[in-house]
Formats: sequence, structure tokens, C-alpha cells
Amino acid sequence: MSAKTTRELARVEGVVQGVGFRPFVYNLARGLGLTGWVSNTAAGVELAVQGGGEAVEEFFARLETQAPPLAVIHRVERQTAEPEPGESEFEIRASEGGKRSTLISPDVAVCEACLAEMLDPVDRRHGYAFINCTHCGPRYTIIEDLPYDRPLTTMKAFEMCPACGAEYHDPTDRRFHAQPTACPVCGPRLWLADGEGNELAADDAVAEAAEALAKGEVLAVKGLGGFHLAADAASEEAVARLRGRKHREEKPLAVMVAGLEQARALAELDQASAEALASRERPIVLVPRREGAPLAPSVAPRNRLIGLLLPYTPLHHLLLAAAAERGLKALVMTSGNVSDEPICLDNHEAVCRIGAKAARGAIADKLLLHNRDIHLRSDDSVVRVVGGALRQMRRSRGFVPSPLILAPGVAPEGCPPILAAGAHQKNTLCLLRGREAFLSQHVGDLDDLRTLEFFELTAGHLARILEAEPQVIACDLHPDYLSSKWAVERGLPVVRVQHHHAHAVAVMAEHGLSGEVLGLCLDGTGFGDDATVWGGELLAARAGGYRRLGRLRRFGLPGGEAAVKEPWRVGWSLLHEVFGPEEAASLALGLVERRGQHLPLISRMIAQGINTPLTSSLGRLFDGVAALCGLREEVAYEGQAAVELEQAMQALADGYPFALRETEGLLELDWGPAVMAVVEDVLNGADAATVSARFHAGLLAGLSAWAQAGAELSGLTRACLGGGCLMNACLLAGLPAALEGAGLTVYTAALAPSNDGGLSLGQAVAAANAWANGLDPGGVTTFTPDGGKS
Ligand SMILES: [Zn+2]
Ligand SMILES: [Zn+2]
Repeated sequence: MSAKTTRELARVEGVVQGVGFRPFVYNLARGLGLTGWVSNTAAGVELAVQGGGEAVEEFFARLETQAPPLAVIHRVERQTAEPEPGESEFEIRASEGGKRSTLISPDVAVCEACLAEMLDPVDRRHGYAFINCTHCGPRYTIIEDLPYDRPLTTMKAFEMCPACGAEYHDPTDRRFHAQPTACPVCGPRLWLADGEGNELAADDAVAEAAEALAKGEVLAVKGLGGFHLAADAASEEAVARLRGRKHREEKPLAVMVAGLEQARALAELDQASAEALASRERPIVLVPRREGAPLAPSVAPRNRLIGLLLPYTPLHHLLLAAAAERGLKALVMTSGNVSDEPICLDNHEAVCRIGAKAARGAIADKLLLHNRDIHLRSDDSVVRVVGGALRQMRRSRGFVPSPLILAPGVAPEGCPPILAAGAHQKNTLCLLRGREAFLSQHVGDLDDLRTLEFFELTAGHLARILEAEPQVIACDLHPDYLSSKWAVERGLPVVRVQHHHAHAVAVMAEHGLSGEVLGLCLDGTGFGDDATVWGGELLAARAGGYRRLGRLRRFGLPGGEAAVKEPWRVGWSLLHEVFGPEEAASLALGLVERRGQHLPLISRMIAQGINTPLTSSLGRLFDGVAALCGLREEVAYEGQAAVELEQAMQALADGYPFALRETEGLLELDWGPAVMAVVEDVLNGADAATVSARFHAGLLAGLSAWAQAGAELSGLTRACLGGGCLMNACLLAGLPAALEGAGLTVYTAALAPSNDGGLSLGQAVAAANAWANGLDPGGVTTFTPDGGKS
């Protein structure tokens, strides 16, 4: 041992288990001639390295820059130790037990090395649909419990063959401790079944499946986080059949293509969208559809965007290749469910829900099945590039369970684990553990019993795999949300967080902001603290409370929920508000002519406030304008009218006027002048494209003036933009530019969805700050408008 020998102990925290981190350390240390050891521990990985000082420094430099692809290092803590004179080797030590705070990797796309093996005719895994290694493959969806070892995954049914076992135990092998590793000898198998679930005799199940697709049949494909329904995306007959059977009347269907070249044939890809498509998370990326792209019209009716994704499982690669041999260049790949139910998980369930035994008739003609179980469903994620940044629209497979690491001070020190129950629609949960916020995968709309079961399963799963038992539950202020009722039934302290306050706090949390900010919440609907329906709100928001500075001018929602499905009711409500019922009824508008017989009743409902809640919702204002310009009077899903209004626009035009006024001590953005101008335009024969362009331009200017007035009133200069209306790319790109021009610093959501999918993040952080101020034990704590608690 020379005089210059040094020894360092280190602890590495982050996603460092189950990702090939110990063999990486082993090979790195040995390559540098260092001795010592590495071991998995409760908190992550611990190691010791000993050798020349320069080599040790080199080791720590490369530890962070050359870590395996799935590793995410959050922290390396080093400590100098006395050199051990007798040490001559570097070894991988057995894992230590104990409570774990380590992190599990998300499910990621098959890696290049595995793909190359799969395509190599002499490789023992040639053509094998379940090939994976420590750098790729399933994780979150197959883990039943901790520690992350094969017996606690759905791979437990498959005993490794000697060849796989040798790889598994060899620290120099890419499959060292790869828990889901398998081969054709020992691993899961694939087969094709008819709609009843009976296995069909086939030498090559994938080829037969592709044959079915080429004949225009609908194929159910068991994937990573659930079933997909596949069909030839170029065949109108096939896609219309799938759409009709799935009862998914209007929503766009995602399309899978083999690679970026095929994607470019269908869509205009900018650099960021191309990178997102090819990323290992493999989300669905919304991109502008190319003019004349060979896609069936039913793929995305009345939509200029298309959702594309690339293959992420080995099976996808095999299926796309077999389809290409039969001339099919793109496959619809939509979630395997009926309308809004959760995605199907196991083989029997698939036969009963989307196969021949489905209650409302078969959706799939054949099923491509396998015998590796999926423990937890996880839908495809959806992203879009807006304003140069990648935006999460549905954060799910590929991203979950990676935490968002909160900046110091965002959640108070010493806070116990908090579970936030999320929103009613686009539900996700969020488990806050220290500074880590774990957003769950997309759960869905909590209208359905199956979805509620999935919600409960997810809540339990998060607590289990993170070993963080929640001590506080956060939920929405809405008393009737199933998630709110569920929260109250837990018997833990509950914190109820106002919907738009949570939207603002979610953006603050993502950007590490503390103190007070201007919260510009542009949203569909959320329960307000005055028991009206909020949705276009200007708040002075802190994580621990808020003041309402302003709102959108209110209008009635005749029929409540019915108005969400029938925007013509909102259109009429706007006319009623601006012109009064008599003058409105005399307007020569299509809506008035078509709905004439219902209008007197609707007017009475509005006038007498019968089942007509007042709302300041911006989302509903979009719906109303879409109805007034004849674009959409009824919708198949929430937000459809608003989406189509955005899609109708070519470029911004001369904006409609909006006004600012003060009402009941609130700064109100008045859409009245804009609606008058819409009516005038429509009466003069303007089409939806024109109305949309002028409405968007006017709204941008109006919102911007409104926010600036709020900034002056409150003295706040940081603006957080949140809420579902920011799914509108025109607002999301245009508002920050306008507000920054006026001297404000603007923050928008990117890592968490801006819509209700990100609500649980805001709830969790708001509840943590409520906790710091003292909670009512076992009771319900509600934020009140003055920023205190009751
Ligand atoms: Zn691999
Ligand atoms: Zn094997």
C-alpha cells in the first residue's frame, strides 16, 4: 500500500436499484484498479473504493457521468475513511435488508442491445417477444411488492433456465440481476386466440395476428400496462369498425409506426417532438398531421393533430415488422377498453370485456395474448411540444413512478407522508414523501366502479412500493367527488383543497416557488369556496392559502352537467345574459333556430336559478362560443367543443373586445362585448375559423390585461398559469409571451399535466403546508378564502 492510498465511503441515492448500478460500479472500480465493495441498502447503494487519489476522483466523476441508462442519481454523499491494508479485490456484497427509501424505475422501451439480439437469427432470443435486460423492459407494472426481486414480481411464475441463470449471476453481463430476464426456454410465451379466448393453432402467432390486421380485423394486443386495440390505420373500414365497437365516438385514436421515418410520412415533426417520440419513455406525442397523410379519416375526425407513438415492447417491434410485410405502415393502437372504463389487464378480463363475451358486443376479433401477468395497469402517456417545451398531457407509463423532486422549502421539513386523492376527472393520485412527490399513473374518470377499484389499488400500491404509509389525506373541496368521499372515509386527518388553488400550487411546486404568486387559473370546472362553479380565476396564491382577486364574468349553466354535454345550452345562456331572453330569441342564429322550442324553458331555468349553477368557467365559455358559431352544439366528451374551436383556427386575427370591471370586490374579466361581436360576425356570415381566430386573439389580450391588473392590485410579479384550458396551445404559447412583455415572470406546467391530471400534486403540497400550521386530528381542515384555515 503506497502512502498515497485513499479510501472513500459513499452513499448513492436515487433510482439505483434494479437498473444495473452495482455491476456498473463493480466494473468501473475494477477498470480503475480500485478495491472495495458495493451493496444495495435501504437508502440506495453504498460503496467503498480504495486506491490512488486520482483514480478515486476519476471513479466519482464517472460514477455520475457514465451511470447506466435507467439510473437516476439524486445524491452522492462521500466520506473519507482509513485505508484497509489487506483489501485486494472489489466485490459486490449481498443486499442489506431493512426499510427502503430507494426508487423503482418506470417501465421503459426495449433497448438497442436487446433489439439487436432479437433480430439476430443465431441469438438464442431471436424473435423472442419478452427479451429485456437491466437497461430496459417492464418494472413498475410487474412489481407486486418490495424488495424488487423476482419472487415479488409477476415473473415469479417463470423459473430461470441455466443459461438465463448464468447471465443473471454474472456481474459482467448486461442481465446481471435483471429480475424480468427470460428466454424462449424459460420465459413467457405468446399465442393468438379467437374472440372467445381459444388458442388458435399458429406456427407464428405474430404473423397470424398481422394477417388478421391486413384483413381489416380488430386485434387486441396484451402490452406492458394493459391491452391495446389495434387496426390498420390506413383502412377506413377497419378504423370505423374499431371506433364503432369501442363506443369511442369522437376522441382521436393513437397511431403506432415503426420508426421516425414512418412518423414523418404522417406528421410534421419538429426536433423536440421527434426526440420525445424516440425517447425511452415512448409517450404518445401529439403532432400536426401531414397534408394528405395516408390515414383513415376516422383516426382523428376534425382534428389537425395526430397522436403518434413508436413501438416500446419487443412484441410491438415484431408486430409492426410483420404488419409492414403485409403493406401496413401504421396501426391504430388505442387503449383496450370500452369508452371510459379502465384499460383491460388480464387475459380472462380481456375476453370478457373486449373479446366475444363483452356485454355490449365484441370489440376485438382476435387476441394476441401472453402469460406474463400485469400487476398494475398503466396507460400510455401523452405529451405535446408547446412553446419549445415538452408538456405532459397524461403522465403515465414510462414516467411513473419517477418522483418530482421538490425544491427545499416547498414542502415543510418533517412533514409525514401525505396522499392526495386528486380530481374527479383525469384522476391521478400523489404521494408526497419528504421532498419527493410521486404522481401516480393516469387513473381516469371516477364515474365507474372499476375505476374506483383501480384508484384504491393504486393508492395501496404507492404506499407499499414507497414504504410510506400516509398520515394525512388531501382531497378536492367538492363534497360529492368520489375521491373526496374516499378521503374522508380513511379515518386520517383530511385537508380539503380548493380546485384552482391546487392548480396554482402544482405549478409553484414544479418550479420550486414559495411565497405568494399570482395564480392565473384557466380551467373547466371546479368547486369554489362560495359553492359556485369556478373555472376562470385570478388568485393571490401561497402553498398554504389563497385570496381570490378576480374571476371571469359569471353565467348560468342550465342543467348543470347536461350543459357540459350540450354546449348549445351554454351558448344560449351567454346570449340570455348579454341580450336578454326576448332579443336573444329574435337573433337569426342557427342555434336559436335549431333549439327554438327548448329555449323558453332554458330561459326560465336561468331566470329562476333552477338547476342552473353560476359559473366563471373559461372552459365553458369556449364551449358556448363553439356553439354560437355553429361548430359544435353537443359533445361526446368533456372539452371537445373547446378543442374543436382551437382546431378551427388558422392564424390569429383581429381580436374581439373583452372588458375589465370591478364587481363584488373582484376584478372581473367581462366576455360580454366579445359575445356581442361573435353574434355580429356570425350574423354577417363569418365561419367558425374566423370566429375562432378572433376569439383567441381577443381572449389572449383580455386575459393578459386582466392578469396585469391583478399584478398591479396585489403587487405580485410572478404569475403561475394552471388549469385544463392551458391544453390549448394558443393560450399556452401566447399568454407567457404577453405577460412577460408586461414585466411579469411567468411559470407554466411541463413535468406534471396542467389539467386535472396534475391536480393531486398541488393538493399534496398545499396539504403539507396546512400540516405545518397544525391540523385538526381526525377531522377535516379546509382552506378558507382569506388564506387561513377553518
Ligand atoms: Zn435491454
Ligand atoms: Zn431462459
